Amino acid sequence: MTNYSTPIDLSPYFTERANRRNVSPLKGLLRFMQADPTLISLGGGLPNPDLFPFIDVSATVVLPGNNAINIAEGEEKGLNITLTRSSRHGSKVEPLNSLLQYGGGFGIKSLVDFFTEHMTATHNPKYKDWSVVSSVGSTDGLTKVIELFLNDGDNILVCEWTYPTAIETFHSSGINRVPVKIDGEGMIPSALDEVCSNWSGEKPLRMVYLIPTGQNPSGATMSLQRRKDFYKVCQKHNLIVIEDDPYYFLQFADAPVCDTKQATENTFSELPGIERLIPSLLSLDTDGRIIRLDTVSKLLAPNMRLGWITGQSNLIQKIQFHNETTIQQPCGFTQGLASKLFNDTWGLDGFLTHVLSLQKEYLVRRNVIVSQLQKHLGNMVKYTIPTGGMFVWMELNLSPDQLAQTGIMQRIFDKMIEESVLLVPGWMFSPASDPSSVKDKPFLRAAFSFASVEEFEGAVTRLAKVLESFGLHK
Ligand code: PLP
Repeated sequence: MTNYSTPIDLSPYFTERANRRNVSPLKGLLRFMQADPTLISLGGGLPNPDLFPFIDVSATVVLPGNNAINIAEGEEKGLNITLTRSSRHGSKVEPLNSLLQYGGGFGIKSLVDFFTEHMTATHNPKYKDWSVVSSVGSTDGLTKVIELFLNDGDNILVCEWTYPTAIETFHSSGINRVPVKIDGEGMIPSALDEVCSNWSGEKPLRMVYLIPTGQNPSGATMSLQRRKDFYKVCQKHNLIVIEDDPYYFLQFADAPVCDTKQATENTFSELPGIERLIPSLLSLDTDGRIIRLDTVSKLLAPNMRLGWITGQSNLIQKIQFHNETTIQQPCGFTQGLASKLFNDTWGLDGFLTHVLSLQKEYLVRRNVIVSQLQKHLGNMVKYTIPTGGMFVWMELNLSPDQLAQTGIMQRIFDKMIEESVLLVPGWMFSPASDPSSVKDKPFLRAAFSFASVEEFEGAVTRLAKVLESFGLHK
């Protein structure tokens, strides 16, 4: 049985803005309506739901484990989801009229309940009093979490290469990025310790942002030991952590690199499924210092714009208040469809089957791209074979002379465009305050998620041609 610990109190670190956030007064009235079904409300100015023009909303989704690509449009192979105006017997999902009505900042109950059940089953947080609030995806979640703890001029520790949208979020909020070295397993705990121990900046180091699985852009996945070591350093320096983990389920464990789709299929039993995923930082957290961002973007579809945030209840409540004055809550159609899918149609088991099918597809892609890199690029590049996510991060074997040339990476980039192949140059992932200092770092990120597997060889041979034109040899 888990012995749940008492979390540390993070409220002394709340920003003034977070401290001022309160329940929006009219939202506070909703609880009276929820508590007493006989109450006649002449209170909130909710539009009359009988006037909503939607009678029902339907979607057809694949059977868990299937892929929509194999199903012709109009062909009846999927599972039907219908949101109706009245509650269906046995369904946990709210009727359409309440999905489309104004609601509280947590999001609709049936979906938040599913997320909470899912977090318990998958991560089982080890401290008392955590909760979940919906977001419009992790981009939205990140903005709201940093507002809780960071003011203009504060610092955030980040990987030396990291996700550009996060960099821009920090930059536009006036937050200084303090880079920490990474290797093939992500942020290096001893490097984090060193930065914190030697810190002499005016403002303290209070927060770390990282992507522990399939890191964007490096593709690195932190092993369990790395996660534990990292957590210890966070405890030592009393750091609050933003665990941004959209690739968590796309782990490949020790599945070997095989050069074809057919050969890879024989290794599917090596995939972790859901049972053997590396534990998240949240699941190791006894102090309540990890705030975890989840999203359906890589699990279902990104423009559903839906995610959820998990952490200590008092700070989750602040995010609920923040939602109330910004998004209110994610779109009712999206939440309703996701809730129906997860609660009634796929259920937790179907969701897990779906996850396994994603792991299979991305493993095939990882294997084919890595085989192509081995075949066509050889020693032109160095990389760690990713064990999760969607990216291979390559360091080009440029000569010292080339490395000393200003603008070399821009020229390589221009040549790639000329040869009709696109990879993202390293400088775009740099959190450095002076981008010119990293402009010529010899890194490229290849995403193996979007192009078709059949296109990988063409892309890699074009890249080989570009690199050969700069004198690199296999
Ligand atoms: N965080 C990371 C590390 C990502 O790589 C991405 C998308 O590429 C996101 C967040 C975006 O998440 P969302 O679509 O939920 O806003």
